[in-house]
Amino acid sequence: MITNITTPHNYRVVDHAYDVIVVGAGGAGLRATLGMGACGFRTACITKVFPTRSHTTAAQGGIAASLGNMAEDHWQWHMYDTIKGSDWLGDQDAIEYLCRQAVSAVYELEHMGVPFTRTENGKIYQRPFGGHMRDFGQEPVQRACAAADRTGHAILHTLYQQSLKHDVEFFIEYFAIDLIMDDQGTCKGVIAWCLEDGSIHRFRANLVVLGTGGYGRAFQSCTSAHTCTGDGNAMAMRAGIPTQDMEFVQFHPTGIFPAGCLLTEGCRGEGGYLTNSTGERFMERYAPHAKDLASRDVVSRAMIIEINEGRGCGPQKDHLMLHLEHLGKDILHERLPSIVETSRVFAGIDVTKAPVPVLPTVHYNMGGIPTNIHAEVLKPTTDNPDAIVPGLMAIGEAACVSVHGANRLGTNSLLDLIVFGRAAALRAQEILKPHQHIEPLSENAGENGLLRLDRLRYSEGKTKVAALRNNLQRTMQHHAAVFRNTKNLAKGIEKLKTIWEKVEDISVSDKSLIWNTDLMEALEFENLLSNATVTLSSAFARHESRGAHAHDDYINRDDKEWLKHTVSYLDDKGNVTLSYRPVHLDTLTNEVQTFPPKKRVY
Ligand SMILES: Cc1cc2nc3c(=O)[nH]c(=O)nc-3n(C[C@H](O)[C@H](O)[C@H](O)COP(=O)(O)OP(=O)(O)OC[C@H]3O[C@@H](n4cnc5c(N)ncnc54)[C@H](O)[C@@H]3O)c2cc1C
Repeated sequence: MITNITTPHNYRVVDHAYDVIVVGAGGAGLRATLGMGACGFRTACITKVFPTRSHTTAAQGGIAASLGNMAEDHWQWHMYDTIKGSDWLGDQDAIEYLCRQAVSAVYELEHMGVPFTRTENGKIYQRPFGGHMRDFGQEPVQRACAAADRTGHAILHTLYQQSLKHDVEFFIEYFAIDLIMDDQGTCKGVIAWCLEDGSIHRFRANLVVLGTGGYGRAFQSCTSAHTCTGDGNAMAMRAGIPTQDMEFVQFHPTGIFPAGCLLTEGCRGEGGYLTNSTGERFMERYAPHAKDLASRDVVSRAMIIEINEGRGCGPQKDHLMLHLEHLGKDILHERLPSIVETSRVFAGIDVTKAPVPVLPTVHYNMGGIPTNIHAEVLKPTTDNPDAIVPGLMAIGEAACVSVHGANRLGTNSLLDLIVFGRAAALRAQEILKPHQHIEPLSENAGENGLLRLDRLRYSEGKTKVAALRNNLQRTMQHHAAVFRNTKNLAKGIEKLKTIWEKVEDISVSDKSLIWNTDLMEALEFENLLSNATVTLSSAFARHESRGAHAHDDYINRDDKEWLKHTVSYLDDKGNVTLSYRPVHLDTLTNEVQTFPPKKRVY
């Protein structure tokens, strides 16, 4: 059906109706799409890039599960490590759910056809990864299930193939602009733009699931794909829904210097180690037990301290070295083939012979749209911190369940995608029936998104999006770094204000809607700016150091004041309102042990 929506420029809009709409075809979106399809829901999956080009395809190291294929392991050990990794900000009920489901989630992937690397006796190969330990934090354990160093690629392709088996429809290279909400705050659908032919589409549904990934591209140097612009988070914020714990941005210790592309933690899992300019294996000083396999926040901080104290490598003393050469050609080619290639292409180094220069690089967003363990989006009220937004779910890196708290452990994200992508479908089955009545939309529903499109498309400004984005990325790189302080954060907030003022002056040269990448980048830029703004404001407000938020003026963790989630709202002028909600320190079932906060040492 075609509808006209009146904005100053009339739009002819193609209307669609589905039981469920999933936005995003990364690991989270595809797992949800597959589950929804399998339950018999008429399901549409909307994605701005071809599904197998989603950032999940770049995941290298592995997916965590206590299979115990290499040595004894238990899901409770995994749970303890995840809570400790989160610096106790993770919700313990959600972490229990994640770690308990992990084993069956990985076997499910195996049965779907993920080509995991095998041990000699044919089991799934597992490697050590940072922060994953045995016996409640004693010694590293091999828990990361790996398909060489291409685990995300293997998982994403398998999920896409499997979802094609079900009767789901893909809308590929469709850009979701905004959510459609009704006056009661229920989500009713999304409005999207088909990049290929320029048509506008209005999707109504009983349930919308956001699996739109992170916003790494708010920073200058990151391991994330160009598509990681936090669109879903920004769509939620424009719909009056908060984001949570946005101050927690993970820096991965080993981005190639200076290119920034990732060298998986699996490198250190396989026995690689870091050295400073004196050749010292400095991690032994910072984390005597876990050493190079301490949590990512710990290793990244140690690296920055080494550089700040003058022990960086190279003429500028501005990076450190990752050694793999001692592992030998055979192991490197078998287990880390992409690392050999990436290092050759991006650093010109043969890792079988020489160390690679590395520097911490932005990698993952612990924050996102708050949800419960059923993937339902939360909008806390004064009476109920766990109140839900009807009709809306969020999963994957776009969501904050929160299983990663203040710092995510490596390999726990792929797990999060699969477990909560599946949870979304399970919940949908409880609250909806296939082919249930889908309420019609009000006449001009979706107008907000189109007005926004219009504003950018027909703006008469003079400022190029690329210049503003560059400014934003530099600001975030310098003011939301590994170490933060009050003065620097305040300065960052001021700089973002000047960028907000410039938004009015954006110039988009092309008015067409057909493959107008200039216009798409303008939409993405606004989304990045929204994410960046709540990140800096949340960081400024948190007067403690916890996980990835290391504050020079408040160097200790403060459980009395700050064992709580930051909830951030953003208005259309860039003003942030913060509130807080309690961390869940209870487990789902009484028989499962809880882990009260204690000092975090590795
Ligand atoms: C280089 C790298 C290596 C990593 N390695 C590991 C690892 O080994 N183990 C691990 O556990 N984690 C790893 N991670 C983290 C993990 O891969 C990511 O957190 C995870 O893949 C995110 O998945 P996702 O499904 O949430 O989003 P993504 O995979 O980013 O997918 C987002 C989807 O949303 C769609 N989308 C976004 N915006 C719009 C819009 N406006 N309209 C329509 N569609 C939209 C995109 O098209 C895409 O399909 C790694 C991350 C990186 C960057």
